[in-house]
Amino acid sequence: MQKILAHAGVASRRACEELILSGKVKIDGRVVTELGVKADPEQNVIEVDGKKITEMEKLIYILLFKPAGYVSTVHDPQKRRTVLDLISGIKERVYPVGRLDYDTSGLLILTNDGQLTHELIHPSREVEKTYRAMVKGIPHSVSLKKLATGIELDDGKTAPAQVKIKKTDGDHALIDITIHEGKNRQVRRMFTAVGHPVIWLKRIAFGFLDLGKMKPGEWRYLTKQEVERLK
Ligand code: URA
Repeated sequence: MQKILAHAGVASRRACEELILSGKVKIDGRVVTELGVKADPEQNVIEVDGKKITEMEKLIYILLFKPAGYVSTVHDPQKRRTVLDLISGIKERVYPVGRLDYDTSGLLILTNDGQLTHELIHPSREVEKTYRAMVKGIPHSVSLKKLATGIELDDGKTAPAQVKIKKTDGDHALIDITIHEGKNRQVRRMFTAVGHPVIWLKRIAFGFLDLGKMKPGEWRYLTKQEVERLK
């Protein structure tokens, strides 16, 4: 049964086992809670959470290079452009995994796999996200150390981060910072707190995924291997 569900794209094999054990799966109207029960998707009506698996959407995973000037929610009361405008032509209803600010560009995953989304944004998973920031002024080593060890923000202290100056030019510095939390506007607030406001911000990596040679506005499907690695 768990194999049938996983093949139908319901969730990973392990997550499907959990669905069965938690009583969310029915065969021909009867709840099954044991693993290894045999069924035939051609003959039996299989339901997960009351939804027939044949009616389920295929799970899709998209890596988008979000340009600045788009919101990463699927609906914007202010009617600004949303990341969904960039992937028109996809019939599945996908949602962003976490957020990027309207004025931040970079790597954003979109999917209709709610289970994976939940796992990836859960703080315990500590997925590393790397941002490239152009900041005003050139931070001294004391400020860099503060950024790396933790900054006291209104909503708590930030966890340790990796910080590296890539380049300086006149009165600006290009800095890569890797964090695993997702506080609202965290990177911008961290730099502001040390007196170096962000001029522009781009997420260049999410876990093991990076933007490669992609350009703003471009997107691609994640490969099967990439999806497996994320799980
Ligand atoms: N930190 C920010 O300040 N903005 C983002 O969009 C993401 C992280």
